[in-house]
Amino acid sequence: MPDIIHLLPDNIANQIAAGEVIQRPASAVKELLENAVDAGADEIRLIVNDAGKSLIQVIDNGKGMSETDARMAFERHATSKIRNIDDLFQIKTMGFRGEALASIAAVAQVELKTRMQGEEAGIYIEIENSRVQKQEPVAAPYGTSIAMKNLFFNVPARRNFLKSNAAELRHIVDEFIRVAMAFPGIFFSLSSNGQQVFHLEKGTMKQRIVQVLGNSYAAKLVSVQEQTDYMNIYGFVGKPESAKKTRGDQYFFVNNRFIKSAYLHHAVMNAYAEMIARDSFPAYTLFIDLDPSQVDINVHPTKQEIKFEDEKIVYAFVQSAVKHALAQFSITPTLDFELDASIQQLDAVSKPFTEAKKASASASSLYKTFTQKNQSHFIESKSELKHWRDFYESKEPGQELAGKPGNLHQPGTANPKPATGNLTQLHHTYIVLQTDKGYSLIHQQNAHERILYERFSKAVEGRPIATQPSLFPATMELAAADAVLLNELLPDINQLGYLLEPFGLNTFVIQGTPADTGQGNEKATIERILEQYKHFSSDLKYSRREKLLRSMALQQSIKPGTPLSDMEMKQLVEDLFQCSTPNATANGKPTYLEFRKDELDKLFGK
Ligand code: ADP
Ligand code: MG
Repeated sequence: MPDIIHLLPDNIANQIAAGEVIQRPASAVKELLENAVDAGADEIRLIVNDAGKSLIQVIDNGKGMSETDARMAFERHATSKIRNIDDLFQIKTMGFRGEALASIAAVAQVELKTRMQGEEAGIYIEIENSRVQKQEPVAAPYGTSIAMKNLFFNVPARRNFLKSNAAELRHIVDEFIRVAMAFPGIFFSLSSNGQQVFHLEKGTMKQRIVQVLGNSYAAKLVSVQEQTDYMNIYGFVGKPESAKKTRGDQYFFVNNRFIKSAYLHHAVMNAYAEMIARDSFPAYTLFIDLDPSQVDINVHPTKQEIKFEDEKIVYAFVQSAVKHALAQFSITPTLDFELDASIQQLDAVSKPFTEAKKASASASSLYKTFTQKNQSHFIESKSELKHWRDFYESKEPGQELAGKPGNLHQPGTANPKPATGNLTQLHHTYIVLQTDKGYSLIHQQNAHERILYERFSKAVEGRPIATQPSLFPATMELAAADAVLLNELLPDINQLGYLLEPFGLNTFVIQGTPADTGQGNEKATIERILEQYKHFSSDLKYSRREKLLRSMALQQSIKPGTPLSDMEMKQLVEDLFQCSTPNATANGKPTYLEFRKDELDKLFGK
């Protein structure tokens, strides 16, 4: 028998190893950004085209590489960051495994330009399939630029596995944010297909958080700062009133490395106990620094979990530091001394809104048009209910909604109709509906959510919901990550009656709203839809469109506590039983419960 074992050629071995390190464009982005940070850069620019599929380039002004190092950097297990096993427990850099560049060179076409401080010229190297194609001196600024083109060009199976550009770009933005948050002293920018997505000037940690998470956090952050011999914790947490229904603005960093930890998240949530609603999440960006020997970072490069030597101590420490910070903020003045001086001086910030200004604004005819009843543009306060009202008002008086209620337990059967006569609203939340078998208790919000969900589903599949042009189009500025998300959802949102147009960097203009909802609070509505979407977005089993439909239905449904007129109740009940699945919301909550008369009779001994 011949021997059958042989060594794999380097480029194949590298390709296989690359699968571990570079799973998608965002993993390469993380590695390249971390290398730039390790090189001591204070300006780092990330450029991507086609969500990194055709180009990922990172340009830094760090220390650069010598000619020999530039060649060595692409070898597997080539690193300047550790020398022996003991170094592993004293890691001060982001990288140390010496695998990233070798992996990247195995699955993309790479162009490196680098020039060390004080060197006359730089060096240019081109690599493809782990093989150097070209090497020559080049004029270049100090620092390093690495461009990787056509990721997975030689591994089509992996290339096909990539998600849509919108989805991959979102992963890139996530990685970018995680690095940018940890190093507020470094300038970062991100541009995608020639459009600038982030431009983050150097600043304080608080300024960086606000740059990334959005201006709405500027006055809503509480500083956390505790030091002990064992560990330090610092950063910011959101005031309780800024808690959102979304997980997403939560960041832990251990020794400047982004980590995910359900355990530490729990510690923070515990510190907020009683201060926020049960299903809401506070924003936090917390940095934990401790002796590297107390953490095991020798985990897989793409894993974000971490092992602490003593987890319980860290938990208790995080919880008490956050509690302490929250207890203090209520007596701390909210003046923000870190606000840019030029912004601080703006009239809008420094001068109070005077009565005189208020009067002149409200005297304008524009204002009146929108505030006086019976004007043609009068805005319905309960905008969601408007179309029901129209429906009824257009009917002949005396036209009754007659019909026999069927068996409510079987959705989809001969759609039951409300009994004529009285529907009763309880607690502005429930509607009591008498049926021939007993009565049903309808949850008004859940019922409306089901109705809207089916209406929206039909709209995205076929005829779009009509749009009413905005008389005064509002612009809406979003945090960059939210803008990327909204761009992704735009086609479907517009199909549902909105007319949103991108308008430069992270800004959108609301040109129109669904014809059957009133105008006036569309900005807030869209922000809430995004919030809700993010809340659903960890759920991988649903498509983007499905998540959007569910978010919109939930957001636009009438809330408990809303009084309903008889006509509104009737319309709600009738619409509900027109649905193909009237008995539950898309998210699986019941829309009504049935109480049978014969069961009730028994309870009363009859
Ligand atoms: P690691 O970061 O784990 O050492 P990499 O493969 O990411 O492994 O990089 C290999 C080596 O190349 C690094 O140790 C570093 O010396 C050098 N290097 C990589 N990127 C840069 C950069 N942007 N500037 C300077 N040196 C770099
Ligand atoms: Mg590295």
